[in-house]
Amino acid sequence: MNSDDTTSPGLELRAVFGYASDRGLRREQNEDSLIAADPVFAVADGMGGHEAGEVASSICVRTLGDAPFVGRHLPEIGADDVRVLLRDADAGIREATGGRAGTTLTGAVLVSEAGVPCWLVFNVGDSRTYRLTGGVLEQITVDHSEVQELVDMGQITPDEALIHPRRHVVTRALGTGSDTEADYWLIPAEPGDRLLVCSDGLTGEVSDGQLEQILLSVDNPQDACASMVEAALRSGGRDNITVLVVDLEGAGEHSGASAAALPGTAEHQPAAGSAGA
Ligand code: MN
Repeated sequence: MNSDDTTSPGLELRAVFGYASDRGLRREQNEDSLIAADPVFAVADGMGGHEAGEVASSICVRTLGDAPFVGRHLPEIGADDVRVLLRDADAGIREATGGRAGTTLTGAVLVSEAGVPCWLVFNVGDSRTYRLTGGVLEQITVDHSEVQELVDMGQITPDEALIHPRRHVVTRALGTGSDTEADYWLIPAEPGDRLLVCSDGLTGEVSDGQLEQILLSVDNPQDACASMVEAALRSGGRDNITVLVVDLEGAGEHSGASAAALPGTAEHQPAAGSAGA
């Protein structure tokens, strides 16, 4: 690993990402939405029949996509800036659907906090953001769901939560209900980080252990997304499946296997293109 500590750490970071969304095998529509527009990466899972869920989740990601910091590298923004956007999204969904529909939202903005690159992770509902770091997959977000509350109280185990009849009941959402506040986490972002953002159609079908195994074995982020969607479909695909993978690379790093610098290669070669370059 390089340590050019004299340069500002964030300037050389690059987010490389892939994503996939699938209706699944049982649902008639895909009510999930996603946004992957550096520095914003998020998944929204809409709820409410007759296409209202799709309206809710798409208003939500459009609101994020219109944010003034979209397209800026490492903006100096914080949780308060995201909170304002989520209030706008909440109001927009209520206006469009009259409170009949809501959406979950989770993801991250790659920000600069006092000069340090960080993931500003946010969550409302039971979609999830994970980080693969040091070869281990960690769930960053905590679900806002009835079963999560039962797990927290020690009344059921995480495994029992997966098959509990009320596992789909969320306790917070945007656009509906009275509890719309997101939780926030600020985590230092480092080259080699791999973020997974997904709807419950993935985590309801595929165990964290299987997800970790795919994320560790499939280098290319787009291929990793395809592989996880396939796994969810094989497991039954009972819900819409949406998955987004973001890799954070340092300058001159390749997403492929040949990342080691050749002896005597003084110049940093910018990674032109990705796989197949
Ligand atoms: Mn879902």
